[in-house]
Amino acid sequence: MNSSQQQPIKKIGIIGGGQLAWMMAGAAQKLNIELFIQTPKNTDPAVSIATNSIFAPIDDANATAQIAGLCDVITFENEFVNLEALNQLAQTGTLFRPSLNTLEPILDKYHQRCFMRDIGLPVPQFLSWDSPTTPQPLSYPLVMKARRHGYDGQGTIILKNPQDLETTWKSWGCPSVLLEEFIPFEQELAIIAARFPNGEIAIYPIVETQQENQVCRRVIAPATLTAEKTTEIEQIARTLLENLQAIGIFGIELFLTKQGKVLVNEVAPRTHNSGHFSLDACETSQFEQHLRAVCGLAPGQTTLNSAGAVMVNLLGYETCQNSYLEKRQRIADIPNAYLHWYGKTESRPGRKLGHVTVLLNSEPSELRQQALEISHQIESIWYP
Ligand code: ADP
Repeated sequence: MNSSQQQPIKKIGIIGGGQLAWMMAGAAQKLNIELFIQTPKNTDPAVSIATNSIFAPIDDANATAQIAGLCDVITFENEFVNLEALNQLAQTGTLFRPSLNTLEPILDKYHQRCFMRDIGLPVPQFLSWDSPTTPQPLSYPLVMKARRHGYDGQGTIILKNPQDLETTWKSWGCPSVLLEEFIPFEQELAIIAARFPNGEIAIYPIVETQQENQVCRRVIAPATLTAEKTTEIEQIARTLLENLQAIGIFGIELFLTKQGKVLVNEVAPRTHNSGHFSLDACETSQFEQHLRAVCGLAPGQTTLNSAGAVMVNLLGYETCQNSYLEKRQRIADIPNAYLHWYGKTESRPGRKLGHVTVLLNSEPSELRQQALEISHQIESIWYP
């Protein structure tokens, strides 16, 4: 494999074998691409769809070197990598898309915030904090975040007072953390965008995301926004991807305040939960778009095929090995519903076990209401 790649890319190595890699299967087949997976366990979802898998931790660069030997390019479904070790691989000719230079400023949440601020994007006030004695200008409530390895709200906590901050920080083992102002947002939004090797950018409709306990529960596409806000957010996505010299799909999470101010929360250098609706609601899913970008193919269509869509995560609510067949059948029977079950061997509270997308057909003014009613229907079947 070498970085002056001229041959068509046909074999892609993916670091990470969870549901995000698993959902690339259909697109890979369509584009005639083989997938090779590096993932910790042989029961991880994407193992079943891979040409070959290597079972190793995500940050094991020796395993990535093995995968690289089988593939034309390496991409990511998980950003918990060891960048330093991967840099050595890149120096010996392994092609990464997105590149390691793109990942470098965004893997640490504090560095990511600095990067976004420095390129002029609006972000919440923030600082890095690593000593209980350092004076800090933020007021309470404030949000403390682990700088790395946070996901689904693990590593994000809202703190009410200095006592809370100190106790929680100590319980985390006194690490350097990101502290930021709590944003009393009106809505959370997300935008999925892909940048291609020739600089083209493809943008999906902006969505409203709803989190509970910091975990995404449902996504409504499209979000109800003015044309002005839509343009502003699309411009944020362009600025970010261009400054990162990104290649591939990126998920960007934002806050919209009551006063109509947009703030960027974070960016993920991979396919994203807020883009799952695209599998069933768009001509080109985020998974196909990512593979297209990584292979240097032309961008696919990103518009919705229906008036709207709602995606509901099916989160584990108990520890067991049930496959919930009866509930899944009832959910799949909802008109225009598409259920995706990730085939995980064990359910645990909060674990993402699957999702369902329902296509919506109401008038724009009634879409959000329809989406909320359908998610309520799904959640009352799913949760006991
Ligand atoms: P993760 O990387 O685990 O998804 P996030 O930074 O996205 O962590 O935080 C998870 C959720 O926590 C967000 O979707 C939001 O609901 C809430 N949250 C995070 N930061 C803030 C903030 N500054 N103000 C208010 N809520 C926040």
